[in-house]
Amino acid sequence: MVAVSSPCSNPPLPACTPVPSSNASKKPLLTYAADKAEPHWQDWKWQFRNRVTTLAGIEQYLHLTDDERAAFAAAGTNIPFAITPHYLDVIQSTPECSALRKTVVPRMAELTSTASEMVDPCGEDADMVAPGLVHRYPDRVLFLVNETCSVYCRYCTRSRVVGSGQHSVDFDAAYEYLEKTPQVRDVLISGGDPLVMADHKLEGIISRLHSIPHIDLVRIGSKIPVVLPQRITDDFVAMLKKYPPFYMSIHFLHPDEITPEVEAACNKLADAGIPTFSQTVLLKGVNDDPEVMKALMLKLLKIRVRPYYIYQCDPVQGTSHFRTQVQTGLDIMQHLRGHMTGYGVPTYVIDAPGGGGKVPIHPETVVSHADGTWTIKNFEGNEYQYIDG
Ligand SMILES: *Cc1c(COP(=O)(O)O)cnc(C)c1O
Repeated sequence: MVAVSSPCSNPPLPACTPVPSSNASKKPLLTYAADKAEPHWQDWKWQFRNRVTTLAGIEQYLHLTDDERAAFAAAGTNIPFAITPHYLDVIQSTPECSALRKTVVPRMAELTSTASEMVDPCGEDADMVAPGLVHRYPDRVLFLVNETCSVYCRYCTRSRVVGSGQHSVDFDAAYEYLEKTPQVRDVLISGGDPLVMADHKLEGIISRLHSIPHIDLVRIGSKIPVVLPQRITDDFVAMLKKYPPFYMSIHFLHPDEITPEVEAACNKLADAGIPTFSQTVLLKGVNDDPEVMKALMLKLLKIRVRPYYIYQCDPVQGTSHFRTQVQTGLDIMQHLRGHMTGYGVPTYVIDAPGGGGKVPIHPETVVSHADGTWTIKNFEGNEYQYIDG
């Protein structure tokens, strides 16, 4: 169990903004109470097969608002819809107050695009050196091996790809490029979500990359340990353990996601010697609150996940309802640094639109510097001087 922190170390989280109640008559809802008592609840393939993927399906588990229902009916939302039983069960524990609900249930605002939004905001397609392989930074590549996820995030930065049936990956061309490009020492496997693939398929990719002499490390970016924690089986971690050093980046959004099952999955990875890092997208009405972010980072440290990045929400089409001001992110960072161990403080980044890569954005700590005298500001806002030499 995740221990409950004492009130003095963790102030109470702000009250939620409830999802407005629907006018529709409220019929009784299905729950997963019976399934949770069955062995199939622990079977990731059962969880995947039993994902809720339709309007009729989700209406059995949640009372939708008129806006949510309309979003299903409207043509034009290009992100597919799917929620695992595990994640839907977490949402059902606070049905109208769930921050997580907003991240996976479509709303009409998704159909509106603003002038600054783009189809491919991070400019990944322009840096593709083989179908599926993005080479932007000098020494590392992003390998988009599939287009399927277990749960579809409504703010997805790769909405142009996920579930499109259009994403092409040329594994042979990618391996050939990597073999003849010795400056690449690090491959980040992403998608889609690579962990929807079977162990033997993933092992085929990982072992092939591992066999290239100049590739020092392989890592996977995934949300599955959070939305489908049953996927992190003993067999799976035993497979990863064969290819050290292997790292994992996990997409966490909110402290409510850290259930006992998620804790067990992350501990299993840590016990196998696989370092894990969190990536969090800053989202309006979900986690754009310093206390929520602080609670998330502290909980991540308890399950041995090192906070890595907070991303400004990319200007991808149909996500303006999720985007905060950059100042909101800076205020959150100000609230983290110095108020908790640096182990728990991620880097806040903007993935520069147009393909500039991740650019860190920091609250100002240098007040001035001249003639070797640096005036600096600490986390309490007090100024100090450091003199060079
Ligand atoms: C994020 C990203 C990487 C990995 O970057 P790190 O900062 O090393 O985690 C590599 N390639 C692309 C295109 C990326 O967007």
